[in-house]
Amino acid sequence: MKRQTPFKTIYFDIVGGCNARCPYCLTGSSETRMSGEISPALFAQALEKLVREGAIGSGSVLSLYNWGEPLLHSDLPEIIRIINDHDVRYALSTNAYRVPVINREFVRNLDHLIFSMCGFSQASYDRIQRTDFDKARENITRIVKDCRGHGFKGDFRIFFHIYKFNEEEVDPCKKFANILGIHFHPQYAILNRWDDLRKLVIGELPPETFSDISGDLLGLDEIPGFLKKKDAACRFLCPQFEYLVLTENGDVVTCCQLPKDRPEFQCGNILDDPLEDILERRRKMPVCEDCVGTGLAAYINSSIKAPASYRRDLRQTVLIIERKLRRIFSGRW
Ligand code: SF4
Ligand code: SF4
Repeated sequence: MKRQTPFKTIYFDIVGGCNARCPYCLTGSSETRMSGEISPALFAQALEKLVREGAIGSGSVLSLYNWGEPLLHSDLPEIIRIINDHDVRYALSTNAYRVPVINREFVRNLDHLIFSMCGFSQASYDRIQRTDFDKARENITRIVKDCRGHGFKGDFRIFFHIYKFNEEEVDPCKKFANILGIHFHPQYAILNRWDDLRKLVIGELPPETFSDISGDLLGLDEIPGFLKKKDAACRFLCPQFEYLVLTENGDVVTCCQLPKDRPEFQCGNILDDPLEDILERRRKMPVCEDCVGTGLAAYINSSIKAPASYRRDLRQTVLIIERKLRRIFSGRW
């Protein structure tokens, strides 16, 4: 049966692993860091089904990432070709470890491209991603120039993750973004390790782990506030249901926060099961009852935020106005 309303965003991991080793990320901190990728043949089948069953429509964006680094895919041009065959808009998020093949095909349906940065110095990169900062900066510059050189008019965005040790690097990174005309989004880094986050929320995280985490992450002191509002939490309608999240094996996981390989969090496989059955299962996942009931869902959905002191400068304001105008003129609201 065809779904009535397509999803606005579908996260479909074409690569399950990542080269970086971010300690607060499920992928970077886990043994599945080097897991596999989807073959172009399976991707084509999955995409065809998502379109046929109404999950993807003309207003949808297919984001080729969630737990992994998409530019590590060994045949990205073929993945892009399949997307272009269906004329679906797509998005990427990358740590800029690698520069993909950039040509007219690459930018044809590219909606936006996000660069995920853990600071603006080698010291910060040594502490979080454990990759080469200069190389990331050079690759970002090259990707932006090459995409624009092939006619790309959409957005580039830098998601700058703020830790206690890199607050001074926000401004230099913003200047870098301004020079290249990239939208700059500074936001507090979060604990993206499901089991530890749950333990933290229910007060069972070992003190030594809490002490390690709170040495780097800001905002953990807000969590008890969410627990106090437990009654409100029980009526919380989780916005994660507005998205669909798939692994490189085509498994649909309840949401992007959960470890992808645990059967208790999976709702079915897009290649094997009808979409409606998958979505019906997702509506009744026990993990959601627990997550909403503990207040964790309310916390998760409000934990990514910019510092209150951050002010957009003129250059960033102009970029936003330009984006709005582009969307108006392309009829995409
Ligand atoms: S770069 Fe992104 S996906 Fe890779 S380990 Fe870091 S946070 Fe996780
Ligand atoms: S309730 Fe929790 S586990 Fe369920 S979709 Fe929302 S954030 Fe994910």
